Amino acid sequence: MASRYRALGAYSALLAAGAGAWLAVELSATRIFPPAWAAALAVVACLFVFQFGLRTRIGLISMERVPQIGLLLVFDPAVAAAICATASFIWPLYNRAYSQGSTTFAALRALHNAAMTVLMLLAAGAAYVATGGKYPLMIVGMADLWPLAAMAIVAQIVNTGVMTLFFLFDRRDVRGMLKPAYVLSDFVFVPAGVLAAVLYNAGHPAIFALFAIVMLVFVLSFNSIGVAATAADGRGPMAKLFESSRALHGARRIDELGERILTETRTLFRFDEFYFVLVEPGEQILDFRVHERGGVRQPARTKSVNAGLFGWTVERREPLLVDDWSRAPAELRQRAEATGKETGSVIVVPLIENGVVTGLLSVQHTAPGVYSQADLHLMQQLAAQVAPAVVDARAFEDLEDYRMRLELRVTERTHELEKASTEKERLIAALRERSLKLERESQEDPLTGLANRRHFAQRLAAEMEVALAVGHPLSIAVGDLDHFKVVNDRLGHAVGDKVLNEVATLMRGECRPSDLVARIGGEEFALILPGLSREAGVEFCERLRACVERHDWRHVQPDLNVTLSIGLTQWDGSAEVPELLQAADIQLYRAKRAGRNQVASAGA
Ligand code: GH3
Ligand code: MG
Ligand code: MG
Repeated sequence: MASRYRALGAYSALLAAGAGAWLAVELSATRIFPPAWAAALAVVACLFVFQFGLRTRIGLISMERVPQIGLLLVFDPAVAAAICATASFIWPLYNRAYSQGSTTFAALRALHNAAMTVLMLLAAGAAYVATGGKYPLMIVGMADLWPLAAMAIVAQIVNTGVMTLFFLFDRRDVRGMLKPAYVLSDFVFVPAGVLAAVLYNAGHPAIFALFAIVMLVFVLSFNSIGVAATAADGRGPMAKLFESSRALHGARRIDELGERILTETRTLFRFDEFYFVLVEPGEQILDFRVHERGGVRQPARTKSVNAGLFGWTVERREPLLVDDWSRAPAELRQRAEATGKETGSVIVVPLIENGVVTGLLSVQHTAPGVYSQADLHLMQQLAAQVAPAVVDARAFEDLEDYRMRLELRVTERTHELEKASTEKERLIAALRERSLKLERESQEDPLTGLANRRHFAQRLAAEMEVALAVGHPLSIAVGDLDHFKVVNDRLGHAVGDKVLNEVATLMRGECRPSDLVARIGGEEFALILPGLSREAGVEFCERLRACVERHDWRHVQPDLNVTLSIGLTQWDGSAEVPELLQAADIQLYRAKRAGRNQVASAGA
């Protein structure tokens, strides 16, 4: 069973079990059974009356209270319940419009109707008897009015309650069920049922027949007054169509439009199946956007345009009305799919806008003869309103898609730009880092990390300016490792490098922050000593020399001794950088000549 009917099925089965048990108990206690032919006739009469009723705005008000109350007062309540329940069971199976065109739903409704009728009549009969009612009722006295009213009220309460539950389980709107107009409508026919029973029981067949005719004429004339009033009221099909056109207007997306078309079609036509199909432009494809069968929405699907009745309509660009499918032309029957579903009446109309078929609408009913030429005309009018709405909705969807694609593109592009800009920033940072490194390297001695000769010369020029400006002394010293060639020759270049590095570290350690140590040649170092006079400079250089001499070189080589000769000169305030350096060199030479590992100095 479809999940949609599961709750409904359980509820109906439960109701039927309860009602069936009660009926069995009551029937076993009943003594007067009518002959079989009378019971069968009563069932047929009930079916006839079900079909017959007042057509009002809230739908068909069936007159089933007439036979139900009538039979209850003619026979025993249990017999009346059995007869009416049989008719109630047959009715949904016979009347497919009542069952939304679904066999499952028809079976459910049949079961439920029968159970409800049994409960209603047994409860109403019990209330009637309990309040002093008697049957068969031969004549109505004032004393009978209260039991009759009790019976009618109980019947109505059970009927409304059980039906409301059914609607709830069917997930339908129950507000209509609980309106006074609906609840009270059945009471109208209670007196008619009582009257029919009294006339029948009293044995006046001619008066009974006359009464039946009066009822018939009453209903027929009431209905024609209703039709005229509806037309005058402007609630005719064309008025509804006018409302539809307003309802369709403004649907932006195709799906929303499809829903609105279905709603509007419901107000205009009876149908078991509804289709809203689009024909994909340029592609020979039918796109089933809304398909409802037996009140159940069918999944969306596509199909080749060459197939079936719809293809036939699209090809010919003509509407199609089949009022009795079993007598449809052989050509059509061959085209139609062999789906095995019941089809009685069919309307298919193409949606044509600017000469192009954009889709189609179709309503179908299991019963033949449901649709007339007037219905076809109405459907064409509806299609004429739907067609431009489809084009509008499509254009809107295209625009919307384009807008979304554009938005997506913009987002992507923004993302790309953001990425590019981050990449750019990363590159700039790397370049800056690289240029700093190059700058450092251009001023730095790669082996020791001390300033190189270039940097030394630049800094010396700057210090000269400062010394002149502030009037402080400035000295420079040039140091050269003694017999370093021997170290290299004896211990290798790598050890020589280690010694150079360590001497650099020692010098840096001795210097003040304002001093600068540079490596200006292989094993030659130069120092700028701002603020130091020759004497102070000699003192400083002596410390430096002693530091190198005292240094423990065993970790480099066990028997290694390293000494340093230094030449110092104080700037005279006028010599240029090369001259000053040369002056210091002369002092260095003097120190070497004097035996090395010493400091020599002069003012320059
Ligand atoms: P002096 O006492 O007269 O200065 O003797 P010296 O051997 O130190 O003088 P000389 O100028 O003859 O030799 C300098 C040596 O320094 C030559 C070379 O082997 C070495 N030298 C120069 N640059 C480097 C260097 O970068 N690394 C190493 N390991 N040795 C170097
Ligand atoms: Mg040397
Ligand atoms: Mg040298």
